[in-house]
Amino acid sequence: MTTGSVDVLVVGGGPAGLAAAISAHDNGAKVLLLEREARLGGILKQCIHDGFGLLRFGEQLSGPEYAERFEDELHAREIEYRTLTFVTGIGQNEDGAFAVHTVGRDGVSVLYAKALVLATGCRERTAKQVFIHGTRPAGIFTAGTAQHFTNLLGQMPAKRCVILGSGDIGLIMARRLTLEGAKVLGVYEAKATPSGLTRNLHQCLHDYDIPLHLSHTVTRVFGSDRLEAVEISKVDETMSPIPGTAQRVDCDALILSVGLIPENELAEALGVQLDGRTRGPVCDGQCMTSVDGVFSCGNALHVNDLVDYVSKNAQQAGKAAAYYQAKPRRLIQMTPADGLLYVVPQRLNLNESNRATDLYFRVREDENNCVLHIEADGKEIFKKRYAFLRPPEMENLTIDFDSCGLNETSRVVLRLEKSAKETV
Ligand SMILES: Cc1cc2nc3c(=O)[nH]c(=O)nc-3n(C[C@H](O)[C@H](O)[C@H](O)COP(=O)(O)OP(=O)(O)OC[C@H]3O[C@@H](n4cnc5c(N)ncnc54)[C@H](O)[C@@H]3O)c2cc1C
Repeated sequence: MTTGSVDVLVVGGGPAGLAAAISAHDNGAKVLLLEREARLGGILKQCIHDGFGLLRFGEQLSGPEYAERFEDELHAREIEYRTLTFVTGIGQNEDGAFAVHTVGRDGVSVLYAKALVLATGCRERTAKQVFIHGTRPAGIFTAGTAQHFTNLLGQMPAKRCVILGSGDIGLIMARRLTLEGAKVLGVYEAKATPSGLTRNLHQCLHDYDIPLHLSHTVTRVFGSDRLEAVEISKVDETMSPIPGTAQRVDCDALILSVGLIPENELAEALGVQLDGRTRGPVCDGQCMTSVDGVFSCGNALHVNDLVDYVSKNAQQAGKAAAYYQAKPRRLIQMTPADGLLYVVPQRLNLNESNRATDLYFRVREDENNCVLHIEADGKEIFKKRYAFLRPPEMENLTIDFDSCGLNETSRVVLRLEKSAKETV
C-alpha cells in the first residue's frame, strides 16, 4: 500500500477538478488531483459539439478543446495528478487530516490531505428511475451513454429512435444521431415547457426538423432482446398519462435525457449536509461544505448549464481550499423564496470576506418581466429586472455582502417579484 500527504487533494479530473487544482496550486498549495478514468477532462471528452467557453474565452470551443486549455495549464505547472485512480472512501483523522482511500494501477493507497475539493460531477437519471413499464430489452440508453458510443467508440446506438426528455444532452444527441444518419422520430417531454437551453432547441431540433412533443411521455416499452417499439401517452398537468391517448411508435432505441443528479456518495459518507433542492452539498461563499475543510464545486455542487460557470466556481473552491485553516465559522442562511428553485451558496460565513460573492440561482418556472430582490433583515440590498427567466438557464450574480452590515442574526432572502411594473 502506498501513501503520501498534500495540502489540497482534488477528487475528479473534469473541468471543475482541473480549475480547482490549478487555482489551489496558484495560491501556494501542494496539490494532488485524482481521476478514476484513463484521461482527464471529465464529461467534456465526449462533448464534441461546440458551445463551450463563450463566457470565459469569448470563443465557441468543443468540449475537448475547452478541457485541453486547462490540462495544458495543469501540465505547465507540473501539478501532480493520477488517472485510473478511483477514490473509494474518505475518513478523517483525529488531527483533522483527511485520509483518502484509493484503488489504482498500483493497488490500494491511503493519501492524506489538509483540505479536500470534491469535483465528482453528476450522473444521469436512468430508465429505472423514471418507472417505465414493460420488458427490459437492449436499446434503452441514457443520452450520455449514447453520446459515449457515438463520439468515443464510433458505434451507432440507434437507427430509428425516440428521445424522452428535452434536457440539453438529449437535444444534442438528437442532432448528433441525425447527422450520423439515424432517424430521430421526436423528442417527448412530460412537462409543458422544454428543459433544455433555448439555443439548443433551435440549433439541435428546429434546424433539423426534429419534432418536440410537450406534455407527452413514454409509458411502456416493447421488445424482448432488442427494443421494438415504445408506447407514448399525453400527460395532464400533474404529469399523469391521459387514458385513451396511448400510441405505439416503432423504434430500435429509446434515449433518455431525464435529468442529472450530482454525485455525492463520498461527500455523504463524510457527513456533508446535502441540499434537497440542488442534491449537492450545502456550502458557503467559499464553497466550503458543512464539514470544515471539505469543498465542493462544479456539477457535484449543483447541475450547471454552462461549463464556464463550473470553472469559475471551481477556481473559488481551489483558492479557498489552499488557504484553509481550521477556525470557527459564523454562518448565516441565504433563503430562496417566491419563485426561486434554489440559490448557491446556501449560506455565508461572516468570518470570511464576502465582498464579491458569486451567487447562482434558478427559477421554478418560466417568468417574464420580473424583478429579483435580495433582502437582508427585510432591507433591500440588491435588485435586478429580468425580461425573462427560464428554469433551464442558471443565473449568476456577483454581490458585495460585506457592505450590508450583516451579523449573526441576519437573514438573507432572495425573492422574485412577478410581472413588476416598476423600472429598475
Ligand atoms: C452531454 C453534455 C453536453 C454539454 N454541453 C455543454 C455545452 O454545450 N456548453 C457548456 O458550457 N456546457 C455543456 N455541458 C455542461 C458541462 O459539460 C458540465 O457542466 C461540466 O462538464 C461539469 O464539470 P465537472 O468537472 O463538475 O463534472 P464532470 O465533467 O462530470 O467531471 C467529474 C469527474 O470526476 C470523476 N470522478 C467522479 N467520482 C470519482 C471518484 N470517486 N474517484 C475519482 N474520480 C472521480 C469522473 O470520472 C469525472 O471525470 C454539457 C454536459 C453534458 C453532459
